[in-house]
Amino acid sequence: MVKKAAVLALVLCLLLVLLGPGLAQAQGRLEVLESRTQMEFPSRLTFSLSVRSDVDISDIRLCYQIERVSFAEVTSEVYIEFVPANEVEVNWALEMVKIGGLPPGSGVKYWWLVKDTRGDKVETPPAQLRFDDLRYSWRNLTQGDVTVYWYEGGGTFGQELMATAQQALAQLARDTGAELEKPVRLYVYADPEDLRGAMIYPQEWTGGVAFTRYGTIAIGISPANIEWGRRAVAHELTHLVIHQMTLNPYSGLPAWLDEGLAMHTEGLLDPRFASRLAGAVAEDSLISVCSLASPFSAYTERSTLSYAQSYSLVDFLLSSYGQAKMLELLSTLSEGSTYDGALGKVYGFDTEGLDALWRDYVTRQYQTGEGLVVQPALAWF
Ligand SMILES: [Zn+2]
Repeated sequence: MVKKAAVLALVLCLLLVLLGPGLAQAQGRLEVLESRTQMEFPSRLTFSLSVRSDVDISDIRLCYQIERVSFAEVTSEVYIEFVPANEVEVNWALEMVKIGGLPPGSGVKYWWLVKDTRGDKVETPPAQLRFDDLRYSWRNLTQGDVTVYWYEGGGTFGQELMATAQQALAQLARDTGAELEKPVRLYVYADPEDLRGAMIYPQEWTGGVAFTRYGTIAIGISPANIEWGRRAVAHELTHLVIHQMTLNPYSGLPAWLDEGLAMHTEGLLDPRFASRLAGAVAEDSLISVCSLASPFSAYTERSTLSYAQSYSLVDFLLSSYGQAKMLELLSTLSEGSTYDGALGKVYGFDTEGLDALWRDYVTRQYQTGEGLVVQPALAWF
């Protein structure tokens, strides 16, 4: 018995000798105690880190990547300021006001690099988070590549939003052959006021936004205003699909094509726009197609006409030349072609040529009343 106890003591001593220095070293060496984040949507995302070593911590950096379509992977590296010590806790906030804001659900990947004065280094494994708008209790529904998020209006409202999105995609594919290439997240706020509260720089008129590089759409739709909501979903979804398809580092899309396709997927031209277009045809005050290639005027009257003309231009191209040509136009633009180069290659005319042909088309349409016949609601204006 005594002998057994002696052997056991000896084994224990040996174990302590073997493990002792190792344990002491592990406790003293540089180690990360905690890494965490705090979301305050839409204004800030705070990263926190606690680290310890047996010598002073000398260098802490935070690296992060924001998930979005770009032509090169961008990693931001932040040098954290702190007072060197052997145990340090640091916080750093990504202030959204400085980067123009992020849409709800944006993916952020981040990791930390830490060094102590002995030269030991630690790199934490990359962590992934979604910058969610946690102020609301979102429900969600996925079908194919579309996920709809909403928090007011119950299950039927969500299903209705999903059906609208799917119909819009089908309509767009019929008109242009363009299809969704990557998943899309559609966030439906309960009204435009809530939507503005989710944005860093909300504009007065914002009813919906397509964050095309993030694959995200945010719209304010009250369940009581689903009719308007259907148009808004179709409109923003079109922007997203068309941008996914044509994104290239060399050139963008003429505004009339981008907005015209979005308006066209909505369905028949809203009477307010049709009436404005009819007025401009009658007064011979149409805007040139060339000026409609640039972003539209902020003045309501001119902006309404710009949207109406864009719809009509796309309607002219689709009804006169068909779906295959529109798809070819989009593919040519996605290769970075100039607007005139793409129009010339596909249709055989440039912007000026389009202007002349379209003026003829729209004038005939409205003078013969064709433009009015398909817009029965115009009678109210
Ligand atoms: Zn638009």
